[in-house]
Amino acid sequence: MKPTLKSLRKPTFSRSSRGDEAGSVGAGLLTSAATAGRTPLILAVGAHPDDIEFGCGGVIARETQAGHAAHFVVCSLGESGTNGTPRQRLAEAKKAAALLGATIEFVDLGGDAHMEPRLAHTLKLARIIRRLRPRIVLAPTTVENQHPDHVVVGQTVRHACRLARYGGVAELKKLPRRVIEHLMFYAVTVEAEPRDRQPILVDVSAPAVVAAWTAAMEAHASQQATRRYAEFHLARAKVHGMRAGLDHAIQLFPADPIVCESLAALGGAARTF
Ligand SMILES: [Zn+2]
Repeated sequence: MKPTLKSLRKPTFSRSSRGDEAGSVGAGLLTSAATAGRTPLILAVGAHPDDIEFGCGGVIARETQAGHAAHFVVCSLGESGTNGTPRQRLAEAKKAAALLGATIEFVDLGGDAHMEPRLAHTLKLARIIRRLRPRIVLAPTTVENQHPDHVVVGQTVRHACRLARYGGVAELKKLPRRVIEHLMFYAVTVEAEPRDRQPILVDVSAPAVVAAWTAAMEAHASQQATRRYAEFHLARAKVHGMRAGLDHAIQLFPADPIVCESLAALGGAARTF
C-alpha cells in the first residue's frame, strides 16, 4: 500500500513539537520552526508537492530574498502521480521550499486526485489562515485544466479566505478572525492561465531569484522524468517577461480589483517598454 499523509504521520507528533524530519507531516502541523513568531507576507497553497514551485516559485524567491517570510501549505503528497513515491515527493517538496526560503506544512484534503469541495476542507484552510495571519494568499487558478485537484484547491482557498474573516463562524471561533489583503491566483500550467482576466506581472528577473527558482523546480527530480518542467516554466516566464521588457516575469491573477491610493503610485505596464 502506498504511504499517505496519514500513514506517514508520526503518531507522537504534536503541534508543539517542531522539526524538519521526514515524518513530521500532518494536518495543520508546521514542518519548520522558521515561521514561528513570524507573520508571513505570503501563504501559498498547492494541491500537489510541486504546484507552488512550478506556478509561482520565482515570486516566492523574489519576496523571501527581499526579507519577507513565505509559508507553503501542500494538500497532498502527489501519491496518485506516475513518477515518484510519496516519501520522495515529501522530501523533494521540503528541499524546494528551503531553496526558496519558505517554510512548509502538509494537510490532508482527501488525497491526490481525490479532492472534492467540502466545508471541512475550507475550515481546515481557514484555520491555517487565522493561525498564520498572512497578508497575501496565493492559490491555483480555478480555470479547468489537466488536473481536477488544482481547481478544487483554488476554490477551497477562495472560500477559506472568506470564512477566515467572518467573526461568527462557530467552528473557527477559537482563533481570531483574519482579513487578508489580497488573494491572488497562480497558474500551475499554461492551460490554467485565465484568458478573460488581466494578470499582474511580477518581475523575477534578478539572477539570484532565477537561480533559486530553477533549483527549487529541479528539486522535484521525480517529476522531471514526466516533462522537463523547470525548462518549461522558465520559458513561460521568459515569454511573460518579454511582454514587459523584462528577462523573466510570472503572472498572478488578483481575485479582486487592486486598489491604489494614486495613479502616481502605479508601477509600469507591459505595453510601455
Ligand atoms: Zn499539481
